[in-house]
Amino acid sequence: MFNKLTDRFQQAFRSLTGRGHLTESNISDALNEIRKALLEADVNYQVTKQFVADVREECLGEAVMKSVTPGQQAVKVVHDKLVALLGESAVPLELSGSPAVIMLCGLHGSGKTTTSAKLALYLRDKQKRKVMLAACDVNRPAAIDQLEFLGKELGVPVFLDRDLKDVPKLALLAVDAARKQGCDTLILDTAGRLQIDQDLVQELADIKRRVQPKEILLVGDAALGQEAVSVAEHFDQALGITGIILTKLDGDARGGAALSMRQVTGKPVKFVTVGERPIDLEVFHPDRMAQRILNMGDVVSLVEKAAEQFEEDEAKELEERLFKNTFGFDDFLGQLNKIRKMGGFASLLKFLPGMGNLPLDQHINDDAFKRIEGIINSMTVKERRQPEIIGLPRRQRIAKGSGVQVNEVNQLLKQFSQMKAVMAKLGQAGGPSLGGLFGG
Ligand code: GDP
Repeated sequence: MFNKLTDRFQQAFRSLTGRGHLTESNISDALNEIRKALLEADVNYQVTKQFVADVREECLGEAVMKSVTPGQQAVKVVHDKLVALLGESAVPLELSGSPAVIMLCGLHGSGKTTTSAKLALYLRDKQKRKVMLAACDVNRPAAIDQLEFLGKELGVPVFLDRDLKDVPKLALLAVDAARKQGCDTLILDTAGRLQIDQDLVQELADIKRRVQPKEILLVGDAALGQEAVSVAEHFDQALGITGIILTKLDGDARGGAALSMRQVTGKPVKFVTVGERPIDLEVFHPDRMAQRILNMGDVVSLVEKAAEQFEEDEAKELEERLFKNTFGFDDFLGQLNKIRKMGGFASLLKFLPGMGNLPLDQHINDDAFKRIEGIINSMTVKERRQPEIIGLPRRQRIAKGSGVQVNEVNQLLKQFSQMKAVMAKLGQAGGPSLGGLFGG
């Protein structure tokens, strides 16, 4: 399903080869390609816009690692953002209750009945559950027959009653039957419609009220693209779904549903189906899906390894510089930036040696960071390396250049020299390795 998207992504990265580092201008072509690729894959417009903005910000904030190319670094950034977009990690089914009830709902033809059977097989074989299926689409005899047939084929008991039209009652009887037969899991295959309508919503809401399923899973046809996403939104508003099973990922759909579903609905995709055979059901793993979409797993692991090495080297170098007393304002800013990117600036600041005691720590936030950055940017290279040369005239010039009062510059210089003093002491005491402290 993702072939075209994969090709387009690879094309986008090709434009980044052989350039020094990632800058606003050299990534803009690649980002444009990525934007077009996502929109062509029928990814929701807002999702695409946010994704591209996130990738841009992350790429520009990346440190230059000599051992990998900027294109490779960008692949890793896109990979990580795709994983985030898809939901970070797999979300397991909630299977408490005896039996644990899973209600599947969705439009006609989305793959509900076949997915019920696939899920039964998965839970029985992979999770060692004792599963029963229940045919709750009472108005379509063919649907009952289909589930009965699938159940027989797989050796999974199917609860059905061709004469009973009261669906909530049928569902309750199924719960009873499951209990009596020692089944710990009951999957309800409910009715579908060509479009979501009030009758259907009412019927499903009644089942929900009476049976209280722990899982209400929307079965959505990935071939419908964004339409599948909006169907899921509707079902969620009407019923409060707990997750999504996306079907027909083996087809020629463009991938937009898979990519937008989580972000737009806020509900996790728990499984995908990738074919017509009962075994064609897979747990949805965001990282594996991102790998599948990008098809550049080797590059991603290469960059991961390089980043680990880079961080180790950087921490070591920083440690040496601190103890040799050549730690300057560029290093200081680099560290603050790193901490800020890790989030929770104020709480993390205490990890910077010496910073815990400083007046900065209380209210430091993005604004404060920007002011510090402004002050440091107004220093000359020499001043940043040797802050001790910054006398009053230089302080006045720096204050003017960064639009702050001289006392703010004074304060920063004081804090910086206090920090260096703490570092020097730590060094003399043969203190702990700083790698861990800075290794962000
Ligand atoms: P329902 O009306 O929602 O119960 O849908 P069905 O379960 O009857 O499925 C409708 C059609 O889609 C059937 O022909 C299924 O074999 C087919 N189908 C379901 N899931 C998949 C899938 O993952 N891949 C493919 N290729 N076909 C599927």
